[in-house]
Amino acid sequence: MSTFPRPVAQLIEELSRLPGIGSKSAQRLAFHLLNVTEDDAVRLSESILEARRKIKYCSKCFNMTDVDPCVICANAKRDNKLICIVESPKDVIAMERTKEYNGLYHVLHGAISPIDGVGPEDIRLRELLIRLQSEPVEEVILATNPTIEGEATAMYISKLLSATDILVTRLAHGIPVGGDIEFADEVTLAKALSGRRKL
Ligand SMILES: [Zn+2]
Repeated sequence: MSTFPRPVAQLIEELSRLPGIGSKSAQRLAFHLLNVTEDDAVRLSESILEARRKIKYCSKCFNMTDVDPCVICANAKRDNKLICIVESPKDVIAMERTKEYNGLYHVLHGAISPIDGVGPEDIRLRELLIRLQSEPVEEVILATNPTIEGEATAMYISKLLSATDILVTRLAHGIPVGGDIEFADEVTLAKALSGRRKL
């Protein structure tokens, strides 16, 4: 039985469902939110709704966007012969931070993981193959995470593309094994990009 008034208990419960937020942090956030001005509370709740309603996935690369195609796909100055394949939109942001990459992206929204029941058909692979047939792609850079799932996904894609003329490269190591692309610093990620190797 919660000792908090019902609306507070409800707020704590909602907050504790957010990733990385345990019940202690949820309580701390809830008490903080109860102390902000009503204007601040409205702004926060409206920005959650606005982001939720306006953000969708680019129909070409499946990156997060509020316009379709996204600004990267729509930018004629980007090299459309190069596609960097990542697991999540957060990885696109990490790659963009390096300012070293001028190609396009393809966001898989996950990685192959038989243990978790995630197969090739559960990520945006089919869409990638369709793109590769219709776009003038010469190189695919596999920038999935250096985890078991990320490596398995990279191997799977490189096998799929082995019969094509497309050059398949993998980010060089330097990204810690088991680490996430999104948490790599710009210098490490830029080095991993320039040192990419053929698979
Ligand atoms: Zn796009």
